[in-house]
Amino acid sequence: MSLSNGRAYLAIPGPSVMPDAVLQAMHRASPNIYEGELHDLTASLIPDLKKVAMTDQNVAIYIGNGHAAWEAALANVLSRSDTVLVLATGRFCIGWGEMAAGLGMKVETIDYGAQAPIDLALVEQHLAADKEGRIKAVLAVHVDTSTSVKNDIAGLRATMDKVGHPALLMADCIASLGCDRFEMDAWGVDVMVSGCQKGLMTPAGVSFVWYNAKADAARGDCVTTYWDWRPRTDPDIYFQYFDGTAPTHHLFGLRKALDIMFEEGLDAIFARHEVLAHTIWAAFDCWSAKGPMKLNIVDPACRSHAVTSVEIGSPHGDALRYWCEHTCGLTLGIGLGRDPADAYFRIGHMGHVNAHMIMGVLGTIDAGLKALDIPHGSGALEAAAGVIARG
Ligand SMILES: *Cc1c(COP(=O)(O)O)cnc(C)c1O
Repeated sequence: MSLSNGRAYLAIPGPSVMPDAVLQAMHRASPNIYEGELHDLTASLIPDLKKVAMTDQNVAIYIGNGHAAWEAALANVLSRSDTVLVLATGRFCIGWGEMAAGLGMKVETIDYGAQAPIDLALVEQHLAADKEGRIKAVLAVHVDTSTSVKNDIAGLRATMDKVGHPALLMADCIASLGCDRFEMDAWGVDVMVSGCQKGLMTPAGVSFVWYNAKADAARGDCVTTYWDWRPRTDPDIYFQYFDGTAPTHHLFGLRKALDIMFEEGLDAIFARHEVLAHTIWAAFDCWSAKGPMKLNIVDPACRSHAVTSVEIGSPHGDALRYWCEHTCGLTLGIGLGRDPADAYFRIGHMGHVNAHMIMGVLGTIDAGLKALDIPHGSGALEAAAGVIARG
């Protein structure tokens, strides 16, 4: 007998849980890719993708994962000898910087470690010292999925403006878009990248780059034909030909996902993610009262509402994940980018998740702590239920 039989639950920070309606929208024959329905559907995605990012600027769709959008964003604005400033608060911004280095750019990094957000005072110092304007772009991750830190992107723009630095502000919102509030235009972001498999609840494989006129004008010597965002934002070229075959089924799935999102409303989505995050934190506050567990990010104001990283001590992270998956059918996220990785685990709570799912995650973790004799404080599920009850 196994208690894991039944519907499995993938609670990792991407790919996220997909609505059945999204999967059903994809379960059909391919349409004519040259005219009609698919063309209209693609045209309908553009304003909605801008709405999700809260921008009136441009958006280009790429057939590729988030890494593809990273490279596209860099390639469209930078030249090979340009310098970028990477504000590292976990594995993901470091990875984006490595990609810039791979393209031949010079990378300067301020590394804030794996438990803290961007310290804007250090950014101010660094940019103020750049009198000759060698830094062409500042790369920041809104929510770093490896650490679950949430950075103050609006504050970063204010800091850049304060020192009058002309660099482009480029943000990775792959984990946060559609979960944690993000406002591209109001926050002064020049380039933003995201993917479809996290807050946008669609199978991995399509990603997006939003960019404003300043970013478009920056255009360096790196851009290549396939990654060029200009033809991709020209409906006459792109909707028709997609630089090759359109990702037909992803587009059907994404259309349905966006419909579901707008039916709920962005504000309601952000509020749901916030309450569910507080539910998780309430449980951890109790568990952490005794034993090795603690939330990776201490200050709640700097925690993502989409993913939670937990330190639990080696090898409890791996042991708990294994137990939850094999005994209960719940898959938790690995301690990505951490050392030792088996001292950490992560919970993905992005996109199509609701209260009973989060209570299920927490109840399963509680059972695992008991089964594995990992010391922990009591009352976690009571506390979590209390947060849900208060809404
Ligand atoms: C998931 C993620 C990525 C990478 O996206 P892929 O689709 O796996 O390439 C990059 N940045 C952040 C913040 C992410 O959460």
